[in-house]
Amino acid sequence: MAKIFCIANQKGGVGKTTTTVNLAAGLAKIGQRVLMVDLDPQGNATMGSGVDKRQLALSVYDVLLGSASVRDAAVAGEQCGYRVLGANRELAGAEVELVDLENREKRLKNALAEVAQDYDFVLVDCPPSLSMLTLNGLCAAHGVIVPMQCEYFALEGLTDLVNTIKQVHANLNRDLQIIGLLRVMFDPRITLQQQVSEQLKDHFGDKVFNTVIPRNVRLAEAPSYGLPGVVFDASAKGSQAFVAFAHEMVERIKTM
Ligand code: ADP
Ligand code: MG
Repeated sequence: MAKIFCIANQKGGVGKTTTTVNLAAGLAKIGQRVLMVDLDPQGNATMGSGVDKRQLALSVYDVLLGSASVRDAAVAGEQCGYRVLGANRELAGAEVELVDLENREKRLKNALAEVAQDYDFVLVDCPPSLSMLTLNGLCAAHGVIVPMQCEYFALEGLTDLVNTIKQVHANLNRDLQIIGLLRVMFDPRITLQQQVSEQLKDHFGDKVFNTVIPRNVRLAEAPSYGLPGVVFDASAKGSQAFVAFAHEMVERIKTM
């Protein structure tokens, strides 16, 4: 049975998409069957997996509205080793169109049930908001991976997300839990980042993943080649960190 994880954080630019595509590529590299679901109308995770969002015949939009199945809409990520349920601007309209539909928060969950045996991991890249789209991701998931930068307001920003996850857990999805906080874009030379990192560990204990993703320019360059960093330059420090994180996740799901 596939384990489904949302990569979520209400802040933009914190590394959600980078985490999603590189964890997907890292897991694929170590032999896991992976589906990446792009729930952001910007379609960055789609493009960053070698799939042209403008050329999608079917997308996650069609799946949410019930006019296509996941199996029909998913395509192979170019060179990436995982499959992609892509998104483009069309998805922005889903927000409004979903309002009138039955089970509107559970459309993704119900659609993914069909492919539960086809994959080991389903990774959902969420938009930077608490929209109906993110809610569909949270309702479908077994857990949330929260990428975060170790900056001054990092902890404050987490409060909203933690409360949202609690609410979804209480009302919509009893399976949902925070799997862990992933420290990303980390620069050990910056004292403040080390301090915040320590605070995080004090606060959240073993909810903080052991793996730390360093700030690494190769990870930032990779999307312009339509590839995850792990595929674009496997030897880069950031890529190696994401493969280590993939191993950590494989271990982690054994205890779920
Ligand atoms: P989000 O999806 O949360 O908006 P992104 O994953 O798109 O965030 O990351 C925001 C920006 O930071 C992008 O330009 C991305 O390439 C860059 N970035 C993300 N992670 C790293 C990293 N570890 N090292 C260097 N740049 C990174
Ligand atoms: Mg993003």
